[in-house]
Amino acid sequence: MRLLVIVFGASVTLGLAAFGAAAQQTTAPSAAPAPSAAPAAAPAKVACANPDGLGLARTVEIDTTGGPAFGTEHFKQYDFLRDHEVVLTFDDGPWPDNTPMVIKALTDVCVKGTFFEIGEHATWRPDLSKVVAAAGMTIGTHTWSHKDLARNPYAKDIEKAKDEIEMGFSAVHMAVDGPIAPFFRFPDLQQPADLMAYLGTRNIAIFSTDIDTFDFKIRKPEDVVKSAITKLQKNGKGILLMHDFQHATAEALPELLRQLKANGFKVVHMVPKAPVTTLSKYDDMVRAQDKYSSSNNTRPESSVVKTINE
Ligand SMILES: [Zn+2]
Repeated sequence: MRLLVIVFGASVTLGLAAFGAAAQQTTAPSAAPAPSAAPAAAPAKVACANPDGLGLARTVEIDTTGGPAFGTEHFKQYDFLRDHEVVLTFDDGPWPDNTPMVIKALTDVCVKGTFFEIGEHATWRPDLSKVVAAAGMTIGTHTWSHKDLARNPYAKDIEKAKDEIEMGFSAVHMAVDGPIAPFFRFPDLQQPADLMAYLGTRNIAIFSTDIDTFDFKIRKPEDVVKSAITKLQKNGKGILLMHDFQHATAEALPELLRQLKANGFKVVHMVPKAPVTTLSKYDDMVRAQDKYSSSNNTRPESSVVKTINE
């Protein structure tokens, strides 16, 4: 972790100043160059310690006020990437084995991505969500249980749809036990207008994609690489949709990152201007989902159970 902070000292300090990842903030001041050594407006870029590493080309801060929507497959206005720039996004995690493999592959070459996690998955393995956060990745959400919100019962009942969206944020926020981004991706990229409007009122940004790798339909890692690189070369740049949930993608990632570099692509990392604020009603609903807890159990264990003979 310390190495990462040194490598990314400048951009991490900038991106996380308001975001507050505690572990990184405590190490950043000593690891980062003295503020006077670099111009205030342009933090010095530090090369990746791995000579074969891609490194981050730039970090962009997204102001999510009003719920801006990104991804040219559906929304053309904010097409912020330059030629040969790539944003790496991963859906449907966190998941055992695969998510840690993806994190390692990214970290090995000093790049970062955005993870749209499923609330239920995060409640099953909160330790994995914490691993993603500790690696300095951006974490957004992808609903509570991956329902297509354009279909019933969600299409005819906005409250049910809001439950799916908000419980996703509450669950992932609880799993990380720290700030997460107001970034959201709809399952199956089905984006009903009334829910887009709702997310606008919540100042949550919506991410479709520029390029869908369809990695969830691919079994062989080499075919995941081929799909991503071929589509990127055709498009010239793009937000890339993949799944850390998928084993083939996790296996493909080291080679995919190598080919990105070989083909002159550069990775851009997105961070939010401010973290998401969850709503207590939905936090409570997530807690109520926990089958292994009781709302009676509010006192600390030490005051409930005492050894009186041993
Ligand atoms: Zn998904």
